[in-house]
Amino acid sequence: MKPHAIYPGTFDPVTNGHLDIIRRCAPLFNQVTVAVAVNPAKTPLFSIADRLEMLRDACADLPFVRVTSFEGLLVRFAESQGAQAIIRGLRAVSDFEYELQMALMNRRLSDRIETVFLMPSQEYTYLSSSIVKGVARAGGDVSELVPPGAQKALEALAHP
Ligand code: ADP
Repeated sequence: MKPHAIYPGTFDPVTNGHLDIIRRCAPLFNQVTVAVAVNPAKTPLFSIADRLEMLRDACADLPFVRVTSFEGLLVRFAESQGAQAIIRGLRAVSDFEYELQMALMNRRLSDRIETVFLMPSQEYTYLSSSIVKGVARAGGDVSELVPPGAQKALEALAHP
């Protein structure tokens, strides 16, 4: 049986880079739970409800995907969902150090959950939620960087 994976993140907002990673999971996993982290240490631009709505809208054509949010330890959430793996995206070497720390800490917290790294298509390696927010705030075109629901929300930033 193909396993169930959790793809956690802030998704503030979802970008085409995130969606590229989610699509790459299709042949590998039966089910992918995209999980928006409720993290008191971060101050995201969009509310949890908005981030969930943008993700659900963007993943509506992907039947193996479920979108939800979680609080607390990621590995405990993964175990509670019966998942075997955590998916993380690696864009460049700059992502690696932090991701390695997280993966090894998560393994220490639960050796039943394996972290799996996926690389996006090359065109998305420069893409981050922070960069699209910056472009949108300055009135730049983000239509090729994010799905339509996120584009609408981002355009409202430049024209409040
Ligand atoms: P976090 O705050 O957990 O890093 P993000 O929403 O920024 O949340 O990212 C979630 C995951 O998606 C991370 O593993 C990140 O490296 C990955 N990711 C973000 N943008 C991209 C992209 N353009 N291509 C591939 N992976 C990405």
